[in-house]
Amino acid sequence: MADNAGRLWVVATPIGNLDDLSPRARDVLRGASLIAAEDTRHSAPLLAQAGAKARAVPLHEHNEQEQSVRVIEHLRDGGDVALISDAGTPLVSDPGYRLVRAARAAGFVVSPVPGPCAAIAALSAAGLPSDRFVFEGFLPAKAAARRERLGELAAEPRTLLFYESSHRIVESLADMRAAFGDAREAVVARELTKLFETILAAPLGELAARVEADPNQQRGEFVVLVAGAAEADADATLAEGRRVFGLLREELPPARAAKLAAAITGAPRRQLYEV
Ligand code: SAM
Repeated sequence: MADNAGRLWVVATPIGNLDDLSPRARDVLRGASLIAAEDTRHSAPLLAQAGAKARAVPLHEHNEQEQSVRVIEHLRDGGDVALISDAGTPLVSDPGYRLVRAARAAGFVVSPVPGPCAAIAALSAAGLPSDRFVFEGFLPAKAAARRERLGELAAEPRTLLFYESSHRIVESLADMRAAFGDAREAVVARELTKLFETILAAPLGELAARVEADPNQQRGEFVVLVAGAAEADADATLAEGRRVFGLLREELPPARAAKLAAAITGAPRRQLYEV
């Protein structure tokens, strides 16, 4: 690759709060000679705010193949290109994969400018196990396919992350409830970084009922997080163990009640005792 070849910058942009555009992202947007944007009209205010002067060309799921050829020509001519999507990190449930792949295959340097991503922002504030997680993006729109996908995930031990829109949040939560059970811990992270940001955490049954009952909780953009199977099962077992221990404790000495509750429910005896 020639020394004067351009670089493809993959630039994360805010998911709501415009102050989340990093100084480095701003510099890269200002310095690029071409901006490939998912929707140029949508991104115009952000680009104006960043002081970006370069031409913006649309790059979305319907034209990515052809536009990638154009973008690669620009890189070959020595121009730097910034790839952005409507919000957050490009390629994460957004276009850009084909362009990045083509640019790398053609030998160009591709550099990320990291920043906002709804899934990671939600995970960081949800309070669910975050050492291992699975990003599932959007579930299928059709009910049968959605239920099948959720069924496949029912025994997944890692924390599950889903993107969801206002059109389907109620249906998806109902399907998750059916697939994972009412007791599974879950979090709905809505409108992150925006005025009506809400993070609701509860067992799935309760959470689904709460969102269904409140039209305000059905507005905006959502990340739904569901605890992995093993942890949720362990929590449910412990909760049941504590419930049974409480009942037996009314009639029996603590050690005997704990022993019996552990035998009945499978919950660890020592953790019942701590109650
Ligand atoms: N590339 C983006 C990212 O890095 O998060 C995601 C783009 S995807 C097309 C849009 C979806 O992301 C929304 O339907 C919603 O599920 C989620 N999302 C985006 N912004 C959000 C926000 N502020 N709060 C909650 N979820 C959000």
